Amino acid sequence: MPVKLIAMDLDGTLMSGDHITVTEKTKKALKKAHGMGVKTAIATGRTMNVTENVTAQLPFIDYVIYSNGAAVFDRCKGESLYTMPFFSETAAAVADILEEYPVYYEIYANGGIHSQQSKADYFVNADLPQEFLDEYIKSVEFHESICDYAKKSAVEKINLFYFGGEYYEEIRKRLLGIGGIAFTSPISGDLEMTRKGVNKGLALREMCAVLGYSPDEVMAFGDADNDIEMLEFAKYGIAMANASQVCKNAAKYVTLSNDEDGIAAALEKFVFLPARPKLLVSACLLGENCKYNGGNNYNESVVALGEKFELIPVCPECFGGLSTPREPNEIKDGGVVSKSGIDNTSAYSDGAEKCLYIANESNCRAAVLKSRSPSCGFGEIYDGTFSKRIVKGNGFTAQLLYDNGIKIFNETQVRELAEEFTDWEV
Ligand code: SF4
Repeated sequence: MPVKLIAMDLDGTLMSGDHITVTEKTKKALKKAHGMGVKTAIATGRTMNVTENVTAQLPFIDYVIYSNGAAVFDRCKGESLYTMPFFSETAAAVADILEEYPVYYEIYANGGIHSQQSKADYFVNADLPQEFLDEYIKSVEFHESICDYAKKSAVEKINLFYFGGEYYEEIRKRLLGIGGIAFTSPISGDLEMTRKGVNKGLALREMCAVLGYSPDEVMAFGDADNDIEMLEFAKYGIAMANASQVCKNAAKYVTLSNDEDGIAAALEKFVFLPARPKLLVSACLLGENCKYNGGNNYNESVVALGEKFELIPVCPECFGGLSTPREPNEIKDGGVVSKSGIDNTSAYSDGAEKCLYIANESNCRAAVLKSRSPSCGFGEIYDGTFSKRIVKGNGFTAQLLYDNGIKIFNETQVRELAEEFTDWEV
């Protein structure tokens, strides 16, 4: 299945080493993918208002998963798509504990950063560039009492920046005692807290459920342990070369580092695919519920052909106007009749004509069709008595395609088909 949504962590993934800029090559690749109809999302531990520098560089970004997955914002609609804040009593309990110590902490609420004026002097972050920190602190809204603010707000995340301080272990132990909190520490010495269960992977899953994307259509990039759930969810879960080992273990692929345009390299490999030969396929073999009884004939080997071919699904019986579910039909005396004796020959002929039209328009040189069907069967079909007896013959669509030079395979002949495909033109 083609990629329809790309979700990207920021620091160490989309952003270059300065934590501020996206390289020209990565920008260009993402813009190209977006132009092809692929939606883009950033997925970050930052809150909304600290992503503005990123969306200014990539104005086409569609969604922002922020506060480590506690909320998702739809930039096109200008509205929230999902939120999972702390229970207010949990946030209040955390704030009450942190208030007792000489530490800088902040809460993320309503897409912004909030802290207490009297704690500002404790702000230290030795691992990040000063330019980034200067910009960062400008985005903090200081309050006289952050505890009071926490108690009356929907708190998405609480951050404690306290590198190796003497109270670190004591604070950590007390916070662990509260319960209902998920802890992450992307940088050694800090503590980032969200409501238990919150993570980028859950946010991505919820977002896909609302937007109608399956995991098979999602590509996700990350470098840190808080990206793992997201990489596990997406079919194309990709770790950067600079990712932690645990993150790489959770990923399906590893690309180049953020400083080597790893995102652009993966898009080249998985999204900007060269044109592939087209193959007409019975839709029921791809899992479509178009079979006479309302089910399907899903076949993993046929679906896997999508790696090498562009699959064009067709159901001649649906194209011929028959409903699903419908009576079983079989070929008898050159026509097609249902089990109760209704003559459906014209529907089968119409469906076959439509399939031939699609095959010609799409330049399909071959088809994989469901065996034994009165439409799709090739070589053998049921004998017209509804007694499961097999005779030599072809379904209406298979016959018409064959008469027009299209090579027919059934679902058991995938290997033969794959061996021949290199001869076919795109
Ligand atoms: Fe499948 Fe062909 Fe029957 Fe449609 S007509 S359900 S594609 S076998």
